[in-house]
Amino acid sequence: MNPERLRLLHSGIEKKGPFVYWMSRDQRMEDNWALLFSQALAREKEVPLLVLFCLVENFLGAGQRQYEFMLKGLKELKKSLSSKNIPFFLLQGEPEKVLPTFVKKYKVSALLTDFSPLRLKKTWVNTVASKIKIPFYEVDAHNLVPCWLASSKQEYAARTFRPKLNAFLPLFLEEFPKLEKQSIEMEFPEKREPKDLEFLLPSKSKALTFFGDAFFEAWHFRPGEKAALKGLNTFLQTRLNSYKLSSRDPNKAGLSDLSPYLHFGQISAQRVALEVEKTKADPESKAAFLEELLVRRELADNFCYYSQAYDTFSAFPAWAKQSLKAHQKDPRPYLYTLEEFEAAKTHDPLWNASQLELLQKGKMHSYMRMYWAKKILEWSASPEQALEIAICLNDRYELDGRDPNAYTGIAWSLGGLHDRAWKEREIYGKIRYMSSEGCKRKFDVEAYIAKYLNKPFASVEPFTPKRR
Ligand SMILES: Cc1cc2nc3c(=O)[nH]c(=O)nc-3n(C[C@H](O)[C@H](O)[C@H](O)COP(=O)(O)OP(=O)(O)OC[C@H]3O[C@@H](n4cnc5c(N)ncnc54)[C@H](O)[C@@H]3O)c2cc1C
Repeated sequence: MNPERLRLLHSGIEKKGPFVYWMSRDQRMEDNWALLFSQALAREKEVPLLVLFCLVENFLGAGQRQYEFMLKGLKELKKSLSSKNIPFFLLQGEPEKVLPTFVKKYKVSALLTDFSPLRLKKTWVNTVASKIKIPFYEVDAHNLVPCWLASSKQEYAARTFRPKLNAFLPLFLEEFPKLEKQSIEMEFPEKREPKDLEFLLPSKSKALTFFGDAFFEAWHFRPGEKAALKGLNTFLQTRLNSYKLSSRDPNKAGLSDLSPYLHFGQISAQRVALEVEKTKADPESKAAFLEELLVRRELADNFCYYSQAYDTFSAFPAWAKQSLKAHQKDPRPYLYTLEEFEAAKTHDPLWNASQLELLQKGKMHSYMRMYWAKKILEWSASPEQALEIAICLNDRYELDGRDPNAYTGIAWSLGGLHDRAWKEREIYGKIRYMSSEGCKRKFDVEAYIAKYLNKPFASVEPFTPKRR
């Protein structure tokens, strides 16, 4: 285990109670560096290890579909961990409130959490750290190369990040050790065992049955670690070989479909990379897939980690901001509200079809995500408003939303992040443009439209959501 994955957030005085892994981003038992380091540290200190998850209501605008996906995964996880004699507790409430209380009540010896570059988790970590006096560690269990090590600054583009990441890969692309069965029994003082929650939706989220969830087809993505591994194996056996050719055609099932599992940490990107390397698939397809899985995904963490305004206009590169502002007053051919976009009620059947794919499947094809976001820019009153609408819909309906990839992908599409200046045009300025005519040259647009527009959707009245 490369010790550089682990960092001490603050030192402190150890107590005699259990070692706690506060699980957040990496919700899995297998191939989880945060869990493996927790076990190693607990053993060193000769105390039992337990795992905690804090269930927060209305997390970054997540809705019923995301909560159900996550909670079903956590339920499976609790069962798997009990086979290793590791207790798992679901606590309800903001970590900054429930964790310090737990630490004090159970005389926790030390705390460890998994890394996320997003603001909310950073705030939780900082506040928890300020309220506890025990050692507090962090492990990047999501990235192959720990985010803070891969680069010490915000990278300009994939081309500047790629060589840095590649230089570190040999040090970190290693096989995972097995998690051991815990031999120390966890003993709580009589009647003081932590109150565990049922794996139910938090009360407030229950009310959040959005317009599109009436048509959500949950069967496309079965949650949990086992389903994630099954999905990986199917991809390796049937689709990886032709990834380079078919991944950019929204009519083909060419993608890995792993993003919901990667987002919730139900599978490790490192496991995916290790298994891809072992196959005899077409080398160009393997390289194209690993470019997305490693370079693009870890670049997204780099952006959010170093640019804490990642979901605002101010995070766009200077040339893009200047160019978009110069075209702020250009007349828009169409203007839609959030509600009209949400209900797939634009004039453009291709855009509507992509929005319906999102509402129904909970995952839009990656090629269509670019078109979808760029048209929101074209049909909104300002880039700021377009950004707000794109993030709101992405986070609400994508199973993999609320992710660094989301904020980075949207900033790429709307704000030229990690991209270069293109030929100047109305509204877009120098931001790369996309059109339905261009799409027609790439894939069978009519077939894609027919696939999603034929569903009995149009008659439903849209739910009126609140703006973020
Ligand atoms: C406007 C817009 C919004 C996006 N929103 C999200 C989002 O909410 N969540 C999300 O995970 N991704 C997002 N992406 C990135 C990308 O579209 C998805 O990761 C991809 O569609 C997921 O499907 P897959 O796992 O089948 O992809 P595959 O092509 O099989 O890729 C495998 C993995 O590589 C990573 N990856 C692929 N493409 C990218 C990329 N462009 N940037 C960063 N990582 C990538 C993902 O982790 C993905 O799961 C967005 C892109 C754009 C342009």
